[in-house]
Amino acid sequence: MSADPRRAIPSTDRLLALPAVQAASTRLAPHVIRGVITDVQNDARYGEVSPGEVAATVSQRLEALQPTRLSPVLNATGVIIHTNLGRAPLSEAARNALVTAAGYVDLELDLRDGKRSRRGTWAKAALLAQARDAEDALIVNNGAAALSLATTALSVARGTPAVIISRGELVEIGAGFRLPDLIESMGVQLAEVGTTNRTYLDDYRGAITDWTGAILKVHPSNYWIGGFNAAVETKQLADLAHDHGLPLIVDVGSGLFTSDHVLPGEPTIAAALRDGADVVLASGDKLLGGPQAGILLGKTRVIEQLARHPLARAFRADKFTLAALEATLNSPDTPVQHALHVDTAELHTRSLRIANALGLAVVAHEGRVGGGGGAGVPLAGWAISLDERFAHPLRNGRPAILPRVADGRCLVDLRCVPVADDDAILQRLEAILQEDAA
Ligand SMILES: *Cc1c(COP(=O)(O)O)cnc(C)c1O
Repeated sequence: MSADPRRAIPSTDRLLALPAVQAASTRLAPHVIRGVITDVQNDARYGEVSPGEVAATVSQRLEALQPTRLSPVLNATGVIIHTNLGRAPLSEAARNALVTAAGYVDLELDLRDGKRSRRGTWAKAALLAQARDAEDALIVNNGAAALSLATTALSVARGTPAVIISRGELVEIGAGFRLPDLIESMGVQLAEVGTTNRTYLDDYRGAITDWTGAILKVHPSNYWIGGFNAAVETKQLADLAHDHGLPLIVDVGSGLFTSDHVLPGEPTIAAALRDGADVVLASGDKLLGGPQAGILLGKTRVIEQLARHPLARAFRADKFTLAALEATLNSPDTPVQHALHVDTAELHTRSLRIANALGLAVVAHEGRVGGGGGAGVPLAGWAISLDERFAHPLRNGRPAILPRVADGRCLVDLRCVPVADDDAILQRLEAILQEDAA
């Protein structure tokens, strides 16, 4: 029998003694290190790594491995709220707040007297400073939790729960997340009124029964109806609801406090409150540009009712959310706002500098708000244009760069890229163009 080369694969004990393994053990848990060793030994058994290279391969893989596999990505798509990239990137202030919150913090402690205090007081104050028409606020885990809590807590109070909603607002928000399914899963009935394109005040009025708990108005963030359509204004709905002693819940989705000239059709928290909504719901990580959060703003009586509901405890925001949200609200700018209001002339200059250095073209390219609202609103801008085949190496290099691929082109849009990363993009593009030419 000839010697089996697989016998030459180093044993686990020998590999565990490697200096690289010793070094990695300060960063990585023992089971992670063993997992890498087993993987490389298996690769050697299948002939993908030669036995002589096993030790070096283990060392290399361990050096490259971090305790989290999440990798930073430069968003070169021009889509500002990119769901697959984690929605809103946080401001410097919010990032610092996360680091602070990572240790012991005075989350529910008043340091002046050493007594227990209410959690989230400062984040709440920061929200109320921006939403002057709100009397009180509550922060939960995300927008879906805010909607579940509001519909459940407000309608259960009336016995058999039912919430009235227009058929034009029965939307699917993200892949597989259907708003009506969410509400019904909480045991709340939906009384659907009107049609997909037209709903009138009388439709709502006709649906009110003794079992109605609330009227719900939802902003269909990711689509819009053109042509022959009609929806009821918040103010009219508020009057109707209040005439019947019912609360009006308005889910604006995006978390814009006041109107923005770039997004004229986007509903705002301020307007919904002014128009009489009893509670307004929004996400923290869309146009507000903060961490994932569900924000509820409205009348004291309603907010207190929601805060007392058992679900409020299940949905409550953690210390990271509270810290990052407060810091987002109390600092002057967010990356989302910056990308939304980017100076197109400056975007052109930045794109040209990179393109000219590499002999590439700059083309007109429209950015998008993305998952956070502004459905269909084009944001005029520019992109560096390459052949589609360059998208793969761009995504798979360090740093990872996600371009937009459209019509056979790989488009690198700098709208959502911090200026400080322009050189990293230039260097990666240069490297992949050279590899391609070789
Ligand atoms: C995004 C959105 C939600 C869900 O919010 P999450 O923070 O993603 O849970 C609910 N309603 C509307 C109108 C939305 O746009």
